[in-house]
Amino acid sequence: MNSPRTNLAATLRDLDGRSYGNFKQIRGRYQFGPVQLFIDRVQVDPFASPSKVRVRVDRADAGFPADLTTDRQDRVAAADYLLRAGNAVLSKLDQRAIILGHPGQEVLERSNILIDDSGFEARLLVNLPARGRRILGHQAADVLTRDLPGLARRIFLFEEWADADPSAQGLHDHVQLHRDQLELRNHLGEADLVGFVGNGAILPRRSGDSDRPMPAAEAVAFASPPELAHTVTLSSGRRLTGMAIPRGVTVIVGGGYHGKSTILRALERGVYPHIAGDGREWVITDPSATSIRAEDGRAVTGDDISPFINNLPSGTDTRSFTTTNASGSTSQAANLVEAVEAGARSLLIDEDTSATNFMIRDQRMRALIPADREPITPFVDRIRPLLTGRGVSTVLVAGGSSAFFEVADHVIALDAYVPRDVTAQARDLVGVPEVTSAGDSAATQPADPTGPAGPAGPALTPGPRTPTAKALRPASKTKSARAKGIDRIQFGKSFIDLVAVSQLVDAQQTSGVAEALEYLAEIFDGRTSVAEAVDEIEGMLDTQGIDGLTGHRDHPGHLTRPRPQEIAAALNRYRELRLVE
Ligand code: ADP
Ligand code: MG
Repeated sequence: MNSPRTNLAATLRDLDGRSYGNFKQIRGRYQFGPVQLFIDRVQVDPFASPSKVRVRVDRADAGFPADLTTDRQDRVAAADYLLRAGNAVLSKLDQRAIILGHPGQEVLERSNILIDDSGFEARLLVNLPARGRRILGHQAADVLTRDLPGLARRIFLFEEWADADPSAQGLHDHVQLHRDQLELRNHLGEADLVGFVGNGAILPRRSGDSDRPMPAAEAVAFASPPELAHTVTLSSGRRLTGMAIPRGVTVIVGGGYHGKSTILRALERGVYPHIAGDGREWVITDPSATSIRAEDGRAVTGDDISPFINNLPSGTDTRSFTTTNASGSTSQAANLVEAVEAGARSLLIDEDTSATNFMIRDQRMRALIPADREPITPFVDRIRPLLTGRGVSTVLVAGGSSAFFEVADHVIALDAYVPRDVTAQARDLVGVPEVTSAGDSAATQPADPTGPAGPAGPALTPGPRTPTAKALRPASKTKSARAKGIDRIQFGKSFIDLVAVSQLVDAQQTSGVAEALEYLAEIFDGRTSVAEAVDEIEGMLDTQGIDGLTGHRDHPGHLTRPRPQEIAAALNRYRELRLVE
């Protein structure tokens, strides 16, 4: 590498008052004691996207304990800790020109802070200061030569932590909490559980637009029904008791406003680890669990929704269903088969956001409309075959219909936010005697003789969908996929609407999805299926980390690692997606 450039401060002071374009000459690498500063990209004018800058400290200089920063997962937690610390430093400085990126309640792999074998690096976005279109050289010198190296020292030099937190207890606790959460998640897999909700958890959020916990004084802390209580002792010695949701079909019932959706939403987010104090630290879900909802108006490309929808009056073949404008029921069917295709082993479904005719059909309606005149086989008839045939569990909120009692392994009633196990009463009501095992209840032969329309086995294992080689290559050669906030991606000339993809946590993660779409464009060759391509990205992320999503060798921008489920969700909503015949 070339030797670092010198005297950035003097250069910037010389630029004071000159036109903004002159900033471009400061690109390069500089050294401030143990801190290296890289100015990778300089914005062309004050209103363009901010400049890309990195600060880096070598591992030997940083001096962090190796036991907290060696393991891959420990690095994710430690980087998250340093990111939060960095934001605290910046807000104390009141330095708004420097953007480090704000994490929310989840601890996720993010590009903002990189910990690798050789050192610690922060990736920043910097608005280089100007008045009108004139360079403010002195301010720029403060930002780049004082505040940024100061920030790097403050968070990356372990000795700097000594004053406030001599034994680095905060960092240690953060990493240990993350380890414990991962261990509990692994335990779920081994114990055949879909999810775990720890006693004492605070599930409700502060408000509809805040992901912070409801103040403890107002919230009713979670307490497991005794029948579902499960205790785990982790290798750290931490002992946890809470409600275990076994693999199978679990139905959550209860009066309106009694907390049903709140628990489901907590399980939705339980696919990710949470920070201490969130209230959901011990809400842990199968990492592949996917929320499914109705989403009328979405585009669908070549999904096999025939397990749910058949014999449409138009004669459309629902084994390869394509539409630019799906209905409530067809969109929910598409969301479901796509989730399974993307590897979901658990589905989370709320009646609030479901199409009723997709979910159930009552006895009188079955009597009135003969099965061969009704295109929809409701989900209630497919929920057991999905479990026994594909190993896909369901957690379902259904306060308005008893239809799911017959097919449930467990029924949980919420009463003023307090869960009770009402499985036995629910079974009595519908006259289903007993469940033989978690995987196969008496309900596989439903009491209703007009029930499932035909055998469900093969129809629930659709063939692979294979996009064409050009499916993701919009005409323009420039960077084609770009996140616009949390729930929209511009891809070429079209927009992908992600409003219904409720497990995206922030706009940075949507940026990660956008990068993944560009990566998929390289993978698709007319032979690779959606499932294979999404797997390939997951494998790459596991070995290369989040930086591997971008072509950049220096500053990747601010990205959060997405799950394969959300990458597939964006791909599936792309209106120009084309499959090979
Ligand atoms: P449901 O889906 O049963 O109609 P919600 O889950 O939407 O009910 O919850 C209704 C309201 O109760 C929401 O405002 C939510 O924040 C609040 N809430 C949910 N759980 C709790 C709890 N454990 N303690 C206090 N308030 C809660
Ligand atoms: Mg609700």
